[in-house]
Amino acid sequence: MVMDRLTRQRWRWDRAPASAWAAGALAALLVLLAFATDMSAALLILLAAGIAFWAGREARRYVIGPVSADDTIELVGLAELAPLLEALPDPALLIDASMRIVGSNAAARRQMQFETRGQFLTSILRHPDVLEAVQAAVHDGATRAVEYEQAARAERHTRCYVAPVNWGPDRAAMLVFHDQTARISTERMRADFLANASHELRTPLASLSLLIETIAGPARDSAEDRDRFLKMMQVQADRMRRLIDDLLSLSRIELDEHVPPSDRADLVVVGHEVVDMLGGVARERGVELKLDAPDEAIRVVGERFQLTQVAQNLIDNAIKYTPSGGVVRIELGTSGDREETIARAGKRWDEAGRVAMLTPAAVANRSYAYIRVEDAGPGIAMRFLPRLAERFFRVERELGNERGGTGLGLAIVKHIVNRHRGGFLVESQPGRGSAFAAYVELAGED
Ligand code: ADP
Repeated sequence: MVMDRLTRQRWRWDRAPASAWAAGALAALLVLLAFATDMSAALLILLAAGIAFWAGREARRYVIGPVSADDTIELVGLAELAPLLEALPDPALLIDASMRIVGSNAAARRQMQFETRGQFLTSILRHPDVLEAVQAAVHDGATRAVEYEQAARAERHTRCYVAPVNWGPDRAAMLVFHDQTARISTERMRADFLANASHELRTPLASLSLLIETIAGPARDSAEDRDRFLKMMQVQADRMRRLIDDLLSLSRIELDEHVPPSDRADLVVVGHEVVDMLGGVARERGVELKLDAPDEAIRVVGERFQLTQVAQNLIDNAIKYTPSGGVVRIELGTSGDREETIARAGKRWDEAGRVAMLTPAAVANRSYAYIRVEDAGPGIAMRFLPRLAERFFRVERELGNERGGTGLGLAIVKHIVNRHRGGFLVESQPGRGSAFAAYVELAGED
C-alpha cells in the first residue's frame, strides 16, 4: 500500500466528481448516436472525443500524486481540504506555487482581514522569513516553523508552521498560525518575578553579611556595639522571613486560583477574629480599631482562612499608616449586585481618587458581602493607585523613603479575591486617608 503510494499514480474513480461522470456518460451516448446515424458520425465522434478529454482532465485533479517525503500531506483536491482547514482553531492558509491564497479557514479570514481567494500572500503578510519558508515548502518540500513579532498589533508573537502539500502535479504550502503572545508574556512575567524576588531577598541578606563582618571585626570588643548590631541583624532576618512567608502564601494561592471555593464562611466571625488578633499591635501604636458589623452572621461563599488573610492584610496596613491617636474603621455589610456593592463599599468620599483593582464578571442575581477598611493615614496619590496590587510595589520606594514592607500584601489580597470571583477596590484622598474594600459572593439559603 505504501509502496503503491510512493511509486505510481493511481486513479481514484470513487473520488471523481459528478460532473466528470456526467461528461463520461454524455460522451458514451454520443458514440452510440454516431453509430446509429451515419451522416454526421465523424463529427459526433470528434465532439465525443473532446468531451471525454475534458472529463479525463477533471478526473485527473483527483489523482493522488507520488509522495516524496513522509511529512508531505496528501491532498486530493482543494474542495476536500476545505473542511479540514475550517476545523483548525488557528488561522490556516493554503498557498500555491505562485504565492496566491487558494484556501483559508474562518479564523484566518477573520484575523487577517482579506477578501478574496486568489489574492497574493504578500498582500496580507510580508514577513521575509515566512515568505522564504513558503518558497522552501513549495520548491523543496521543506517543513519549517517561523516565529515572528507583529509590533503593529500590540506586540503579538506568532509562530507560523509551514508544511508542503502535494496538490495533483503541483505543490502548495499549508500555513498554520499559532498565537504565542500569552505564553511569552507568562514566561516574561515569571522571569521578572524571579528577578524581583531574588533582588528583594538579596537586600536584607547583604545587610546581614555586612553586620556579621562588623561584629566579627571592628565591634568585636564592645558589648554595647555588639548588642546594637545584633538587634539590626534581627530586623533584617525578620524582613527576610516576612518576604519568604508572603512569597509562599502567594504561590500557594496561585496554585488553586482557578478553582473557586465551595466552602461557606461567616464574614462577621472573620472580622472579629482579625480585630482581636491585631488589637495588641493597634494599642501599641495608639490606634483605635472600630468594627462596625451586624449582630447576625454574614454567610459568604469562601474559604475562611483566605478571607482572614484578606482582612488581616488590609487592617494591618491601615494600622501601619494611621498616626497615633487615629482611628481605623472596619465595616462589614451586605449589598446587592456588583454595581450596588461598588457604590456602597467604594464610593464614599467625594474628592477621593478611586481604582478598581479587580472587578468580577457581571452575573445575574448575584449579591455580595463586603469588608471596607478605612484609615486616617496620609492617603495615596492618584498616580500610584493603579499599581498598588502589583507585586513588590511600594509607594515609599517610589518616593525614596522605604519603611520595610514587602509590597506583597495587596497582591495576596487581589489573588484571593480573584479566586473568590469577587472584587477589590481602593479610594484614597491625600490628607484624609485611604479605604480598601473587598467583596465576595453572598451564600444563598442552603
Ligand atoms: P507592604 O505593606 O508590605 O509594603 P502591601 O502590598 O500591603 O505591601 O502594600 C503595597 C504598598 O501600598 C505599600 O508599600 C504602601 O506603599 C501602599 N499602601 C498599602 N496600604 C496603604 C494604606 N492603608 N495607606 C497608605 N499606603 C498604603
